[in-house]
Amino acid sequence: MAGATRLPIVFYVQSIQATSNCDHGLFLIAFKLHHFMDSYPTNKMNAASDKIPVLTQMIQQLIATPSISSVSPGFDQSNLAVITLLADWCESLGFKTEIQMLDNNKANLIATCGRGEGGLILSGHTDTVPYDEGKWQTDPFRLTESDNCFYGLGTADMKSFLAIALDAIQRIDLKHLTAPLILLATADEESSMSGAKALVTAGKPRARYAIIGEPTGMRPIRMHKGIFMEAIHLQGQSGHSSDPDLGINAMEGMHRVIRAILDWRQELQKLHINRAFAVPVPTINLGHIHGGDNPNRICAECELHIDLRPLPGMSIDELRAELYYRASQAIADSGLSLTTHPLFDGIPAMETPADAELVTAAEHLTGYSAEAVAFGTEAPYLQQLGNEVIVLGPGSIDQAHQPNEFLPLEQINPMLDLLEQFIIRYCMAR
Ligand SMILES: [Zn+2]
Repeated sequence: MAGATRLPIVFYVQSIQATSNCDHGLFLIAFKLHHFMDSYPTNKMNAASDKIPVLTQMIQQLIATPSISSVSPGFDQSNLAVITLLADWCESLGFKTEIQMLDNNKANLIATCGRGEGGLILSGHTDTVPYDEGKWQTDPFRLTESDNCFYGLGTADMKSFLAIALDAIQRIDLKHLTAPLILLATADEESSMSGAKALVTAGKPRARYAIIGEPTGMRPIRMHKGIFMEAIHLQGQSGHSSDPDLGINAMEGMHRVIRAILDWRQELQKLHINRAFAVPVPTINLGHIHGGDNPNRICAECELHIDLRPLPGMSIDELRAELYYRASQAIADSGLSLTTHPLFDGIPAMETPADAELVTAAEHLTGYSAEAVAFGTEAPYLQQLGNEVIVLGPGSIDQAHQPNEFLPLEQINPMLDLLEQFIIRYCMAR
């Protein structure tokens, strides 16, 4: 059925409004409705209208419900309204819902149908990044259809996936589930990962398999790098520039620290190579530095901010410890004092083996070999819970975090088909 016209009726109502001022338009409507009725089984239409809104309405409501997460308090918003919408829809479909409150007025949703061993988690984050005011050509909170795409904040990353997952779920006769089917909706993926971390602390949800619907152009992803960000602070002593012995120069100390970091980077890049990644080595970026105030004063303080992206198999804790050790060795006997602190706790790297069941099934169903990507996801946390995880969803990461974010409509039906097949494969006895 991939590629067949099975879009919900709301999409066609928009076409009617757009074209109803001429005969040709009416013909187009008649043709589209006819084609639509042919290809969308009546029982599925009934199921959709009886239980939860049709797909376009769900996407529209999710986009219209702001849930920006940000490390800047001025931008940060609660995701509770999105969680409530999703929980209501899940309950309408007969799911048991659990809303896990976090301590920042945000929440995760774990909605479960079916019981037993194994099963499948369909997972997405409910938050979006902030948006660039004035750079959008449409209202970021109003779903707008144009050029065969849905525009809106979160269309690609990744509110649409949650609606598509629900629409795929309602195609299934849930009475016939033989293993749990779980819809997981998380908080704060775009900022602190506090939602995913709370799940790990709670030890749930656990199924056998998990698909995270981040925008991957519907190609399965089984690996991504990790990331963490660190501040390195050197405290020295100010003094008159005419006599170096009057102070301890933190900027000169940072010069040595930077040298040590670049040497370490070279060692790491010789030791760790993974050709699946476009950038096949771990990276360290020197991103921000600030120190001193005046040319005629000895620099008393200097701070450097760096970003490190480890490959799968490299531990963030060990890298942090090594960074501290190398920096402290670099300024040994200088009289400077060193502190480091995380700017961003980090996301571990993720790898699911190439021969894992979920990876090979996804390759078979999509026709694409599993790949590696450069962006981090909640996958390592779902892995820690014991789930086998891939990342696979509609839309492109190229549009994520950008003005005029969009989801191509042509990816919706293939994604519905794909999810339906995964659910049948992992939650229904064959
Ligand atoms: Zn995302």
